Amino acid sequence: MQWHGGLARAREHTRRATIDVPPVTPDPLPVPEPVPEPEPAPPPVAPPPDAKTPRFKAACVPGDTLTIAAVGDLLLHHELQIQAYAEPENFVSIWGGVRDLIAHADVGYANLEGTTAAGYNRKGARVRDPGRKFDGVIYSSYPRFNYHPSLLDDLVTTGVDVVSTANNHALDREAPGVDATIAALDAVKIAHTGTRPRGQQTPWHALTTTRGVTIAWLACAHHTNGITDAESQVLSCGEPDELVKLVQQLAADPAIDAVIVTPHWGKEYQPAPDRTQRALARRLAEAGATAILGSHPHVLQPWEVLPGAGGRETFVIYSLGNFASHQPELPRRSTMLLYLGLTRPPGGKAFVHGVRYVPLHVRQDGQQFFVEAIDRVGGPEDSRALTTAMFGEAAVQAPDAPVATRPACL
Ligand SMILES: [Zn+2]
Repeated sequence: MQWHGGLARAREHTRRATIDVPPVTPDPLPVPEPVPEPEPAPPPVAPPPDAKTPRFKAACVPGDTLTIAAVGDLLLHHELQIQAYAEPENFVSIWGGVRDLIAHADVGYANLEGTTAAGYNRKGARVRDPGRKFDGVIYSSYPRFNYHPSLLDDLVTTGVDVVSTANNHALDREAPGVDATIAALDAVKIAHTGTRPRGQQTPWHALTTTRGVTIAWLACAHHTNGITDAESQVLSCGEPDELVKLVQQLAADPAIDAVIVTPHWGKEYQPAPDRTQRALARRLAEAGATAILGSHPHVLQPWEVLPGAGGRETFVIYSLGNFASHQPELPRRSTMLLYLGLTRPPGGKAFVHGVRYVPLHVRQDGQQFFVEAIDRVGGPEDSRALTTAMFGEAAVQAPDAPVATRPACL
Protein backbone atom coordinates (compact mmCIF):
# COMPACT_ATOMS: atom_id res chain seq x y z
CA MET A 1 0.00 0.00 0.00
CA GLN A 2 2.87 2.27 0.78
CA TRP A 3 4.03 1.88 -2.78
CA HIS A 4 0.66 2.88 -4.29
CA GLY A 5 0.53 5.95 -2.12
CA GLY A 6 3.97 7.00 -3.26
CA LEU A 7 2.96 6.57 -6.93
CA ALA A 8 -0.13 8.73 -6.41
CA ARG A 9 1.96 11.46 -4.88
CA ALA A 10 4.35 11.37 -7.74
CA ARG A 11 1.52 11.70 -10.27
CA GLU A 12 0.06 14.64 -8.38
CA HIS A 13 3.43 16.30 -8.32
CA THR A 14 3.76 15.80 -12.06
CA ARG A 15 0.34 17.29 -12.75
CA ARG A 16 1.14 20.33 -10.67
CA ALA A 17 4.41 20.78 -12.40
CA THR A 18 2.64 20.63 -15.76
CA ILE A 19 0.26 23.32 -14.72
CA ASP A 20 2.71 25.64 -13.00
CA VAL A 21 5.76 25.47 -15.23
CA PRO A 22 5.80 26.52 -18.89
CA PRO A 23 6.66 23.71 -21.28
CA VAL A 24 10.34 23.30 -21.99
CA THR A 25 12.18 21.21 -24.54
CA PRO A 26 12.81 17.85 -22.89
CA ASP A 27 16.32 16.60 -22.55
CA PRO A 28 17.24 14.06 -25.20
CA LEU A 29 16.50 10.49 -24.19
CA PRO A 30 19.50 8.70 -22.78
CA VAL A 31 21.27 6.50 -25.38
CA PRO A 32 21.00 2.86 -24.32
CA GLU A 33 24.21 0.98 -23.69
CA PRO A 34 25.10 -1.00 -26.85
CA VAL A 35 24.43 -4.73 -26.56
CA PRO A 36 27.62 -6.58 -27.44
CA GLU A 37 27.35 -8.61 -30.68
CA PRO A 38 27.93 -12.34 -30.35
CA GLU A 39 31.42 -13.43 -31.44
CA PRO A 40 31.35 -14.11 -35.21
CA ALA A 41 32.11 -17.67 -36.30
CA PRO A 42 35.71 -18.02 -37.48
CA PRO A 43 35.97 -17.91 -41.27
CA PRO A 44 36.74 -21.16 -43.12
CA VAL A 45 40.44 -21.97 -43.23
CA ALA A 46 40.39 -22.29 -47.01
CA PRO A 47 40.74 -19.14 -49.10
CA PRO A 48 37.54 -17.76 -50.63
CA PRO A 49 36.67 -19.15 -54.05
CA ASP A 50 38.07 -17.22 -56.98
CA ALA A 51 36.68 -16.87 -60.48
CA LYS A 52 38.20 -20.18 -61.53
CA THR A 53 36.70 -22.24 -58.71
CA PRO A 54 33.53 -24.00 -59.85
CA ARG A 55 30.51 -23.11 -57.72
CA PHE A 56 27.55 -25.37 -57.28
CA LYS A 57 24.06 -24.15 -56.44
CA ALA A 58 23.36 -27.04 -54.10
CA ALA A 59 26.82 -27.07 -52.50
CA CYS A 60 25.60 -26.88 -48.93
CA VAL A 61 22.50 -29.10 -49.16
CA PRO A 62 22.82 -31.77 -46.46
CA GLY A 63 23.07 -35.47 -47.22
CA ASP A 64 25.47 -38.38 -47.42
CA THR A 65 28.83 -37.21 -48.77
CA LEU A 66 31.85 -38.89 -50.25
CA THR A 67 35.09 -37.87 -51.92
CA ILE A 68 36.47 -39.23 -55.18
CA ALA A 69 40.17 -38.95 -56.03
CA ALA A 70 40.68 -38.96 -59.81
CA VAL A 71 43.91 -39.00 -61.79
CA GLY A 72 44.61 -39.11 -65.51
CA ASP A 73 46.60 -41.36 -67.77
CA LEU A 74 48.68 -44.27 -66.56
CA LEU A 75 50.94 -44.22 -69.62
CA LEU A 76 53.91 -46.27 -68.54
CA HIS A 77 56.70 -45.78 -71.03
CA HIS A 78 59.60 -48.21 -71.04
CA GLU A 79 61.72 -46.26 -68.55
CA LEU A 80 58.94 -46.41 -65.97
CA GLN A 81 58.39 -50.12 -66.52
CA ILE A 82 62.12 -50.85 -66.21
CA GLN A 83 62.19 -48.83 -62.99
CA ALA A 84 59.15 -50.59 -61.56
CA TYR A 85 60.21 -54.14 -62.39
CA ALA A 86 63.60 -53.53 -60.71
CA GLU A 87 62.01 -52.38 -57.44
CA PRO A 88 60.32 -54.43 -54.73
CA GLU A 89 57.63 -51.74 -54.55
CA ASN A 90 57.03 -52.21 -58.29
CA PHE A 91 55.06 -49.27 -59.76
CA VAL A 92 54.47 -47.75 -56.35
CA SER A 93 58.15 -46.77 -56.51
CA ILE A 94 56.98 -44.18 -59.06
CA TRP A 95 53.98 -42.67 -57.25
CA GLY A 96 54.62 -43.65 -53.64
CA GLY A 97 54.94 -39.96 -52.77
CA VAL A 98 51.27 -39.35 -53.57
CA ARG A 99 49.76 -42.75 -52.88
CA ASP A 100 48.23 -41.62 -49.59
CA LEU A 101 46.45 -38.75 -51.36
CA ILE A 102 44.51 -41.25 -53.47
CA ALA A 103 44.16 -43.90 -50.78
CA HIS A 104 42.43 -41.68 -48.24
CA ALA A 105 39.61 -40.71 -50.62
CA ASP A 106 36.48 -42.85 -50.57
CA VAL A 107 36.83 -43.86 -54.24
CA GLY A 108 39.92 -43.76 -56.47
CA TYR A 109 39.80 -43.50 -60.27
CA ALA A 110 42.48 -43.63 -63.00
CA ASN A 111 42.68 -44.13 -66.76
CA LEU A 112 44.52 -47.38 -67.51
CA GLU A 113 46.16 -46.50 -70.83
CA GLY A 114 47.36 -49.87 -72.05
CA THR A 115 46.67 -53.52 -71.43
CA THR A 116 47.72 -55.92 -68.68
CA ALA A 117 47.76 -59.08 -70.78
CA ALA A 118 50.28 -61.55 -69.35
CA GLY A 119 51.92 -63.67 -72.06
CA TYR A 120 50.46 -61.91 -75.12
CA ASN A 121 52.53 -60.35 -77.87
CA ARG A 122 51.38 -57.41 -79.96
CA LYS A 123 49.60 -59.66 -82.43
CA GLY A 124 47.46 -60.97 -79.60
CA ALA A 125 49.17 -64.36 -79.75
CA ARG A 126 49.91 -66.28 -76.59
CA VAL A 127 53.64 -66.80 -76.00
CA ARG A 128 55.94 -67.47 -73.05
CA ASP A 129 55.61 -64.87 -70.31
CA PRO A 130 58.91 -63.39 -69.08
CA GLY A 131 57.53 -62.31 -65.68
CA ARG A 132 58.16 -58.81 -64.35
CA LYS A 133 60.58 -57.82 -67.06
CA PHE A 134 60.48 -55.20 -69.78
CA ASP A 135 61.34 -57.35 -72.81
CA GLY A 136 59.76 -55.19 -75.51
CA VAL A 137 57.83 -58.23 -76.73
CA ILE A 138 55.30 -59.09 -74.05
CA TYR A 139 55.79 -56.03 -71.83
CA SER A 140 56.27 -53.13 -74.16
CA SER A 141 55.98 -49.39 -74.62
CA TYR A 142 55.02 -47.00 -77.42
CA PRO A 143 53.34 -47.56 -79.79
CA ARG A 144 51.75 -50.59 -78.11
CA PHE A 145 51.70 -50.61 -74.33
CA ASN A 146 51.34 -53.79 -72.28
CA TYR A 147 52.08 -53.94 -68.57
CA HIS A 148 52.72 -56.78 -66.17
CA PRO A 149 49.48 -57.44 -64.26
CA SER A 150 51.31 -56.79 -60.97
CA LEU A 151 50.56 -53.16 -61.87
CA LEU A 152 46.99 -53.87 -60.82
CA ASP A 153 48.06 -55.02 -57.34
CA ASP A 154 49.86 -51.69 -57.05
CA LEU A 155 46.69 -49.85 -58.04
CA VAL A 156 44.81 -51.73 -55.32
CA THR A 157 47.32 -50.70 -52.66
CA THR A 158 47.14 -47.16 -54.03
CA GLY A 159 43.40 -47.04 -53.48
CA VAL A 160 42.32 -47.14 -57.11
CA ASP A 161 38.87 -48.76 -57.17
CA VAL A 162 37.82 -48.16 -60.76
CA VAL A 163 39.64 -47.65 -64.07
CA SER A 164 38.75 -46.73 -67.63
CA THR A 165 39.90 -49.35 -70.10
CA ALA A 166 38.35 -47.62 -73.13
CA ASN A 167 41.15 -45.66 -74.74
CA ASN A 168 43.28 -45.64 -77.87
CA HIS A 169 45.55 -48.32 -76.36
CA ALA A 170 42.71 -50.70 -75.44
CA LEU A 171 43.52 -52.98 -78.37
CA ASP A 172 47.30 -52.90 -78.02
CA ARG A 173 47.18 -56.69 -77.60
CA GLU A 174 44.28 -57.08 -80.05
CA ALA A 175 41.02 -58.71 -78.98
CA PRO A 176 42.58 -61.36 -76.66
CA GLY A 177 44.36 -58.56 -74.80
CA VAL A 178 41.03 -56.97 -73.88
CA ASP A 179 39.85 -60.27 -72.44
CA ALA A 180 43.10 -60.83 -70.52
CA THR A 181 43.08 -57.30 -69.13
CA ILE A 182 39.50 -57.64 -67.93
CA ALA A 183 40.28 -61.02 -66.33
CA ALA A 184 43.29 -59.52 -64.53
CA LEU A 185 41.20 -56.58 -63.26
CA ASP A 186 38.46 -58.93 -62.10
CA ALA A 187 41.06 -61.04 -60.26
CA VAL A 188 42.09 -58.08 -58.08
CA LYS A 189 38.53 -56.68 -57.88
CA ILE A 190 39.20 -53.37 -59.61
CA ALA A 191 36.03 -52.18 -61.33
CA HIS A 192 36.51 -51.36 -65.02
CA THR A 193 34.48 -49.64 -67.68
CA GLY A 194 34.44 -49.16 -71.43
CA THR A 195 35.56 -52.57 -72.72
CA ARG A 196 34.11 -56.05 -72.63
CA PRO A 197 35.22 -59.61 -73.35
CA ARG A 198 34.69 -61.10 -76.79
CA GLY A 199 31.27 -62.54 -77.39
CA GLN A 200 29.75 -61.18 -74.17
CA GLN A 201 27.11 -58.52 -73.79
CA THR A 202 28.30 -57.49 -70.32
CA PRO A 203 27.43 -53.91 -69.37
CA TRP A 204 29.80 -51.18 -70.51
CA HIS A 205 29.55 -49.45 -67.17
CA ALA A 206 31.06 -50.31 -63.80
CA LEU A 207 29.43 -49.82 -60.41
CA THR A 208 31.08 -48.77 -57.17
CA THR A 209 29.20 -48.53 -53.89
CA THR A 210 30.92 -46.59 -51.13
CA ARG A 211 29.38 -45.15 -47.96
CA GLY A 212 26.05 -46.30 -49.33
CA VAL A 213 26.36 -44.23 -52.53
CA THR A 214 26.30 -46.17 -55.81
CA ILE A 215 28.11 -44.62 -58.76
CA ALA A 216 27.89 -45.86 -62.34
CA TRP A 217 31.11 -45.22 -64.27
CA LEU A 218 31.01 -45.16 -68.06
CA ALA A 219 34.11 -44.86 -70.25
CA CYS A 220 34.39 -44.49 -74.02
CA ALA A 221 37.18 -43.98 -76.54
CA HIS A 222 37.22 -41.85 -79.65
CA HIS A 223 39.48 -44.27 -81.50
CA THR A 224 41.78 -47.26 -81.04
CA ASN A 225 44.87 -46.10 -82.95
CA GLY A 226 43.63 -47.60 -86.18
CA ILE A 227 43.40 -51.13 -84.77
CA THR A 228 40.09 -52.58 -85.88
CA ASP A 229 37.70 -53.41 -83.06
CA ALA A 230 36.53 -56.52 -84.86
CA GLU A 231 34.71 -57.95 -81.83
CA SER A 232 33.05 -54.66 -80.75
CA GLN A 233 34.88 -54.65 -77.42
CA VAL A 234 35.43 -50.91 -76.94
CA LEU A 235 32.62 -48.44 -76.32
CA SER A 236 32.96 -45.60 -78.80
CA CYS A 237 32.61 -41.91 -77.97
CA GLY A 238 32.16 -41.34 -81.68
CA GLU A 239 28.58 -42.61 -81.65
CA PRO A 240 27.07 -40.12 -79.22
CA ASP A 241 23.51 -41.36 -79.66
CA GLU A 242 24.33 -44.74 -78.13
CA LEU A 243 26.41 -43.17 -75.39
CA VAL A 244 23.71 -40.64 -74.54
CA LYS A 245 21.12 -43.39 -74.36
CA LEU A 246 23.28 -45.36 -71.95
CA VAL A 247 23.72 -42.30 -69.72
CA GLN A 248 19.97 -41.66 -69.76
CA GLN A 249 19.29 -45.26 -68.72
CA LEU A 250 21.85 -45.18 -65.92
CA ALA A 251 20.62 -41.81 -64.67
CA ALA A 252 17.04 -43.11 -64.56
CA ASP A 253 17.96 -46.27 -62.64
CA PRO A 254 16.68 -45.89 -59.07
CA ALA A 255 19.54 -48.08 -57.78
CA ILE A 256 22.16 -45.66 -59.14
CA ASP A 257 22.90 -42.41 -57.31
CA ALA A 258 25.40 -40.82 -59.72
CA VAL A 259 26.69 -41.31 -63.27
CA ILE A 260 30.31 -40.40 -64.01
CA VAL A 261 31.34 -40.49 -67.66
CA THR A 262 35.06 -40.77 -68.47
CA PRO A 263 35.51 -40.07 -72.19
CA HIS A 264 38.90 -40.59 -73.84
CA TRP A 265 38.66 -37.76 -76.32
CA GLY A 266 40.12 -34.58 -77.74
CA LYS A 267 43.39 -33.82 -79.45
CA GLU A 268 46.71 -34.67 -77.91
CA TYR A 269 48.72 -31.82 -76.33
CA GLN A 270 45.98 -29.21 -76.80
CA PRO A 271 45.42 -27.11 -73.67
CA ALA A 272 41.75 -26.46 -74.48
CA PRO A 273 38.86 -28.70 -75.49
CA ASP A 274 37.75 -28.73 -79.11
CA ARG A 275 34.24 -28.32 -80.44
CA THR A 276 33.59 -32.07 -80.45
CA GLN A 277 34.47 -32.39 -76.76
CA ARG A 278 32.33 -29.42 -75.82
CA ALA A 279 29.35 -30.66 -77.83
CA LEU A 280 29.55 -34.16 -76.38
CA ALA A 281 29.95 -32.81 -72.83
CA ARG A 282 26.74 -30.80 -73.24
CA ARG A 283 24.84 -33.80 -74.50
CA LEU A 284 26.13 -36.00 -71.66
CA ALA A 285 25.17 -33.32 -69.12
CA GLU A 286 21.66 -33.07 -70.55
CA ALA A 287 21.40 -36.87 -70.52
CA GLY A 288 21.97 -36.91 -66.75
CA ALA A 289 25.72 -37.27 -66.20
CA THR A 290 26.70 -36.16 -62.70
CA ALA A 291 30.30 -35.50 -63.74
CA ILE A 292 32.53 -35.93 -66.79
CA LEU A 293 36.22 -36.68 -66.29
CA GLY A 294 38.08 -36.57 -69.61
CA SER A 295 41.46 -37.90 -70.63
CA HIS A 296 43.72 -38.47 -73.64
CA PRO A 297 45.26 -35.06 -74.48
CA HIS A 298 48.17 -35.85 -72.03
CA VAL A 299 47.94 -32.27 -70.82
CA LEU A 300 45.43 -30.64 -68.50
CA GLN A 301 42.35 -29.02 -70.00
CA PRO A 302 39.95 -26.71 -68.09
CA TRP A 303 36.95 -27.51 -65.98
CA GLU A 304 33.49 -25.94 -65.91
CA VAL A 305 29.94 -26.47 -64.70
CA LEU A 306 27.35 -27.26 -67.36
CA PRO A 307 23.56 -27.16 -67.12
CA GLY A 308 22.43 -30.72 -66.51
CA ALA A 309 19.21 -32.70 -66.65
CA GLY A 310 16.21 -31.41 -64.68
CA GLY A 311 17.83 -28.14 -63.62
CA ARG A 312 20.80 -29.89 -62.06
CA GLU A 313 24.46 -29.18 -62.71
CA THR A 314 27.17 -31.32 -64.29
CA PHE A 315 30.85 -30.89 -63.53
CA VAL A 316 33.26 -31.46 -66.42
CA ILE A 317 37.04 -31.46 -66.55
CA TYR A 318 38.01 -31.88 -70.18
CA SER A 319 41.35 -33.54 -69.45
CA LEU A 320 43.02 -34.78 -66.28
CA GLY A 321 46.40 -34.91 -68.05
CA ASN A 322 48.97 -37.63 -67.46
CA PHE A 323 49.27 -39.25 -64.09
CA ALA A 324 52.45 -41.25 -64.66
CA SER A 325 54.38 -41.08 -67.94
CA HIS A 326 57.67 -40.16 -69.51
CA GLN A 327 56.70 -37.06 -71.43
CA PRO A 328 59.31 -34.46 -70.51
CA GLU A 329 57.61 -31.33 -71.87
CA LEU A 330 56.39 -29.05 -69.09
CA PRO A 331 52.62 -29.27 -69.85
CA ARG A 332 52.80 -33.07 -70.11
CA ARG A 333 54.64 -33.59 -66.83
CA SER A 334 52.39 -31.07 -65.01
CA THR A 335 49.19 -32.64 -63.78
CA MET A 336 46.78 -32.91 -60.87
CA LEU A 337 44.92 -35.11 -58.48
CA LEU A 338 41.29 -34.03 -58.56
CA TYR A 339 39.07 -34.35 -55.51
CA LEU A 340 35.42 -34.48 -56.40
CA GLY A 341 32.95 -34.12 -53.53
CA LEU A 342 29.51 -35.70 -53.94
CA THR A 343 26.38 -35.27 -51.84
CA ARG A 344 23.36 -37.53 -51.94
CA PRO A 345 20.43 -35.79 -50.27
CA PRO A 346 17.79 -37.98 -48.62
CA GLY A 347 15.67 -39.57 -51.35
CA GLY A 348 17.49 -37.75 -54.15
CA LYS A 349 20.20 -38.29 -56.72
CA ALA A 350 23.79 -37.43 -55.87
CA PHE A 351 25.38 -34.25 -57.18
CA VAL A 352 28.81 -32.66 -57.14
CA HIS A 353 29.06 -30.22 -54.23
CA GLY A 354 32.61 -29.02 -54.86
CA VAL A 355 36.04 -29.79 -56.27
CA ARG A 356 39.63 -29.25 -55.16
CA TYR A 357 42.92 -30.27 -56.70
CA VAL A 358 46.48 -31.08 -55.73
CA PRO A 359 49.04 -29.91 -58.32
CA LEU A 360 51.23 -32.88 -59.28
CA HIS A 361 54.42 -33.15 -61.27
CA VAL A 362 56.36 -36.04 -62.80
CA ARG A 363 60.00 -35.51 -61.85
CA GLN A 364 62.77 -37.19 -63.80
CA ASP A 365 65.96 -38.08 -61.97
CA GLY A 366 68.28 -39.79 -64.44
CA GLN A 367 66.23 -42.71 -65.72
CA GLN A 368 63.95 -42.69 -62.68
CA PHE A 369 60.52 -41.04 -62.53
CA PHE A 370 58.55 -39.84 -59.56
CA VAL A 371 55.02 -38.48 -59.35
CA GLU A 372 55.10 -35.81 -56.67
CA ALA A 373 52.75 -33.33 -55.02
CA ILE A 374 54.37 -29.97 -55.75
CA ASP A 375 53.23 -28.37 -52.49
CA ARG A 376 54.63 -31.30 -50.55
CA VAL A 377 58.11 -31.28 -52.10
CA GLY A 378 58.47 -27.53 -52.72
CA GLY A 379 58.43 -27.33 -56.52
CA PRO A 380 58.88 -27.01 -59.37
CA GLU A 381 57.34 -23.56 -59.49
CA ASP A 382 56.94 -23.41 -63.29
CA SER A 383 54.82 -26.55 -63.26
CA ARG A 384 52.69 -25.26 -60.40
CA ALA A 385 52.20 -21.90 -62.13
CA LEU A 386 51.03 -23.62 -65.31
CA THR A 387 48.38 -25.58 -63.45
CA THR A 388 47.18 -22.81 -61.15
CA ALA A 389 46.87 -20.46 -64.15
CA MET A 390 44.22 -22.83 -65.49
CA PHE A 391 42.40 -23.84 -62.30
CA GLY A 392 43.06 -20.96 -59.90
CA GLU A 393 44.76 -20.81 -56.54
CA ALA A 394 41.68 -21.00 -54.32
CA ALA A 395 40.80 -24.56 -55.33
CA VAL A 396 44.26 -25.90 -54.52
CA GLN A 397 44.07 -28.58 -51.86
CA ALA A 398 47.09 -28.59 -49.54
CA PRO A 399 48.35 -32.18 -49.68
CA ASP A 400 48.71 -32.55 -45.95
CA ALA A 401 45.49 -30.82 -44.87
CA PRO A 402 42.09 -32.52 -44.54
CA VAL A 403 40.31 -32.63 -47.90
CA ALA A 404 37.64 -29.91 -47.96
CA THR A 405 35.62 -30.00 -51.18
CA ARG A 406 33.05 -27.49 -49.87
CA PRO A 407 34.91 -25.31 -47.38
CA ALA A 408 32.20 -22.63 -47.39
CA CYS A 409 29.74 -25.08 -45.81
CA LEU A 410 31.88 -26.20 -42.88
ZN1 LIG B 1 45.06 -41.79 -75.10
